[in-house]
Amino acid sequence: MKILFATSEAVPFCKTGGLADVAGSLPQALAKAGNEVEVILPLYQRVADKWKDKMSFVCSIEVPLGWRRVYCGLFRLDLDGVVWYFIDNEYYFKRDSLYGHYDDGERFGFFSRAIISLLPALQFTPQVIHCNDWQTALVPIYLKDECVRWSDIRGIKTVFTVHNIEYQGRYGKETLEDLFGLAPGWFADGTIAMDGDVNLLKGALMTCDAITAVSPTYAQELRYAYFAHGMESVIRLNSGKVYGVLNGIDMERFNPATDKGLAVNYGLELTKTGKPSAKDTVSAGKAKNKETLQKEMGLDAAADVPVIGIISRLVSHKGLDLVCKVFDEIMSLNCQFVVLGSGDWNYEQFFEAKLGQYHGRMALYRGYNEALAMKIYAGADLLLMPSKSEPCGLAQMIAMRYGTLPIVRETGGLKDTVHPYEAWCGAGNGFTFADYNSSDMLYVIRQAVDLYYNNAPAFKQLRTAGMSEDFSWKRSAEEYNKIYQRICS
Ligand code: ADP
Repeated sequence: MKILFATSEAVPFCKTGGLADVAGSLPQALAKAGNEVEVILPLYQRVADKWKDKMSFVCSIEVPLGWRRVYCGLFRLDLDGVVWYFIDNEYYFKRDSLYGHYDDGERFGFFSRAIISLLPALQFTPQVIHCNDWQTALVPIYLKDECVRWSDIRGIKTVFTVHNIEYQGRYGKETLEDLFGLAPGWFADGTIAMDGDVNLLKGALMTCDAITAVSPTYAQELRYAYFAHGMESVIRLNSGKVYGVLNGIDMERFNPATDKGLAVNYGLELTKTGKPSAKDTVSAGKAKNKETLQKEMGLDAAADVPVIGIISRLVSHKGLDLVCKVFDEIMSLNCQFVVLGSGDWNYEQFFEAKLGQYHGRMALYRGYNEALAMKIYAGADLLLMPSKSEPCGLAQMIAMRYGTLPIVRETGGLKDTVHPYEAWCGAGNGFTFADYNSSDMLYVIRQAVDLYYNNAPAFKQLRTAGMSEDFSWKRSAEEYNKIYQRICS
């Protein structure tokens, strides 16, 4: 199929969050699966600085945006089987940061309008335009608006992926015609209207052909006010076209067998049939990485004590108030605790204050440190992630890949990827609890530590199960392919 992937950020060009990781991996996986894929994104200053001399100029046009006629250049770069297009307008995109400007609505209104106007300049007319988050939410609306006059684009379908429903592109009613150049009918019939304002996200949810959320559980959760930031009624109204597709991780980049930052490499040994062999090739590797981690983080050298890690933004929705509430009880379990992260002052202060109390048993690194994160994934035994909400979550998948058992709350992608240990049959790949409650969390932490000390074979079995999981983008691409085919048939 011919897919145009529209995004406001993508690795390796520019990144502020998880969307960039998706946009940097999914298009290649879709291309490998036999699709023709083009990606389109703004030519930000930082992208131009680093990549412009590798790009070729395609064309320039004038894009109509309300009463304006705005210059729009198109540049092209071919990389990893994917054609990357960059939309150039220095007034909108030659800025230090990607978002957070007073005119973000106009900037991404322009971006979305330009995508439609540039369709004849692309290598192919796409069958599907795959849009992401509010920055490209106007694409399905402009497509519907324009196709009544332009038959060539009438058959194009749209997929809209919700990575984070909190950001909706909400603007005053007066922006509809003046800024976005849309007729009043779009507001009058409610398509783009929400609580008296223009709401771009709502417009996309109403007009696209399929809505996807970044995990099956998150797709279900978005029906409820607790998770949907006011969009629950819109999601329910459109529930017939809502799908959940779990994000993947880059299985090459996150690979303990080749990761150059680790003290030693390790991995599952597979039999000829591709199943994990009975030989334990992981324990020794994990032990050496634990020893190095303990030394580096100032923890006591204790090979037989379980290390629990947290690698996270230290913000409330990551469930840290549960951890603070029962921290002393956790530390009474004869374990070590490592925290890597930064964020809200109260959490940082809490962990800082506990350092003195648990000298040699607890370590904290305040800040963002990718190299240290990988050492923790490799050296820890357990990763704690008790999130209040988690659309997909990457840390639990990386932890499992590195043989570290996740302890998570059953929400969003955590629920879809971590399956609780079942003592009676040994099934599972981690530990989970359902209610947002510190006693429930403590209960499963106790269970995990107890298993570590008293049932090493079962602990290893869970580790093997986690390391055998397929979190590749190939799997996600297959799911998206099915959705594309369904809406185009
Ligand atoms: P979110 O996107 O909500 O922050 P995810 O679990 O989806 O949470 O992704 C977080 C990613 O960022 C993971 O890859 C994790 O390893 C990484 N990460 C989080 N905090 C840090 C940190 N302080 N230093 C290094 N990497 C971090």
